[in-house]
Amino acid sequence: MLKKGILVLICFTFFACSEDESITPTNNGTPNPTTANLQAVGSSANDILSDHTYTSLSIEIVYVQGFEPSQTAVNNFTSFLQERTFKPDGISTTLTAIESPGNTSYTIEDISNLESIHRMNYNSDSEVVIWVFFADAPSASNTSSGVVLGTAYRNTSFVIYEQTIQELSDEPFEPNRSVLETTVIKHEFGHLLGLTNLGSALQSAHEDAEHPKHCDVDSCLMYWAAETGSGISNMISGGNAPQLDAQCIADLQANGGK
Ligand SMILES: [Zn+2]
Ligand SMILES: [Zn+2]
Repeated sequence: MLKKGILVLICFTFFACSEDESITPTNNGTPNPTTANLQAVGSSANDILSDHTYTSLSIEIVYVQGFEPSQTAVNNFTSFLQERTFKPDGISTTLTAIESPGNTSYTIEDISNLESIHRMNYNSDSEVVIWVFFADAPSASNTSSGVVLGTAYRNTSFVIYEQTIQELSDEPFEPNRSVLETTVIKHEFGHLLGLTNLGSALQSAHEDAEHPKHCDVDSCLMYWAAETGSGISNMISGGNAPQLDAQCIADLQANGGK
């Protein structure tokens, strides 16, 4: 069980587009191809879900040494992608370790700067590429009453605060680490898939009015009215990461997903 009341899971952020553009180099006025990967969270949901434009999907995982996700969590994530997306030419995952950048905490701007240095691949004609960073220090947005475990901050980018996950897992009365990792990774990726009402249109009324862009079904992966630790703890108490409920799956299917 997580310490009651200290856990705000996860969030998404609309990382300012104007800022994105200012860090996007251009070549004689021609937009840099990476611009396609510097858009708002959820705006590429159809590209990731369907095979209309991109027939393969690549997940580029970069982690600070010592903060690698468990193989179980990576496998669970890959299974989730296969269950929900149409990618006839395959789904691939790469893991790369980097030295610690030396931060004691990370703002989204810090993460974005690291992405510009360490991200190796962007979309090609037929492949959509996702970049995930596993951080060795907490989010700068943590407070005494809540910590952030992950943030989706662009259409193809999200961060997992692995050091925080490690602190909150695998001790007596704490959740299993790979289950907590799986939950946060899939939840953040769910935002990239446009959930909930974040690029994949609602097929039924299930957006949580008090927690926009989240699902109001309390057993759903995209439910994070779980702004307290007890909520998350309840969701994973069975030893498995929560699944998407039928309404979220219907939204994905209506936007080109499985
Ligand atoms: Zn969220
Ligand atoms: Zn849902």
